[in-house]
Amino acid sequence: NAARPVVTRIAPSPTGYMHIGTARTALFNWLFARRHGGQFLLRIEDTDRARSTPEATAAILRGFEWLGLDYDGEAVSQFARRDRHAEVARAMLAGGTAYKCFSTQEEIAAFRETAKAEGRSTLFLSPWRDAAEASHPDAPYAIRLKAPRDGQTVIADRVQGDVTIRNATLDDMILLRSDGTPTYMLAVVVDDHDMGVTHVIRGDDHLNNAARQIHVYQAMGWEVPVWAHIPLIHGPDGKKLSKRHGATGVEEYAAMGYPAAAMRNYLARLGWSHGDDELFDDAQARAWFDLDGIGKSPARLDFKKLDSVSS
Ligand code: GLU
Repeated sequence: NAARPVVTRIAPSPTGYMHIGTARTALFNWLFARRHGGQFLLRIEDTDRARSTPEATAAILRGFEWLGLDYDGEAVSQFARRDRHAEVARAMLAGGTAYKCFSTQEEIAAFRETAKAEGRSTLFLSPWRDAAEASHPDAPYAIRLKAPRDGQTVIADRVQGDVTIRNATLDDMILLRSDGTPTYMLAVVVDDHDMGVTHVIRGDDHLNNAARQIHVYQAMGWEVPVWAHIPLIHGPDGKKLSKRHGATGVEEYAAMGYPAAAMRNYLARLGWSHGDDELFDDAQARAWFDLDGIGKSPARLDFKKLDSVSS
């Protein structure tokens, strides 16, 4: 919807150091928002309590400060919004787009084991999907999305093109666990909707999640954002970037003395191009950045190029 002002976001999970992939995704979102006079928001996805740490959140905030990526408003804690997530799950339950599932983890695990042994699909389809209320036991339950079983879901992606997922390959995902905690998949959609996010620009490791997330938007009657799933960064050898290629943490680059402006310029060109322009400054990047310039194949980290823009 062209009428809505542009709102982008970066939504890192605070589970470790700040990866340069996160920095690049943040930079793309920042450039896109700034180019369109929109807003760039930061949401800390700390819903997974076992893996999230305050130290990781602090490292992310330091990374943004060093890179000079200013976000609008305060950083939002996803965990702090858990009551709102639960409220939406209950609204879906009331509206019939979600249902109570009383299957226990043990039952589901046993089903999968048997299905595997018998060479059948291990996709768990809850027997409670169409169960009458009167048959419900007085027991803890999870709230599951009543996802469409037939047909397909098309993710109209600005980088990948139209990506089609057959609905029969997806299970009814859990929205609210039996202990009352929301799942990450629910939280992302509720937060993006509530924060008014118009463009979801993120790594293509989330592409498959988009199909499930679209189902939540549809169940709530919410407008689906524009998707742009960018290929992950690879190492110079074309393999998925890892520690063995060299530094992968933003703060490692800061500690090595790379100027933040050089890092921004380098990251901007990592997977995005503007014609034949090799070098450009911040103002040019802000004026030129568009989703069409994002490449479809993974960008390769090239330390020599980073050195050349830094000198
Ligand atoms: N928290 C997710 C991650 O760190 C990002 C989810 C998203 O951008 O939608 O990979």
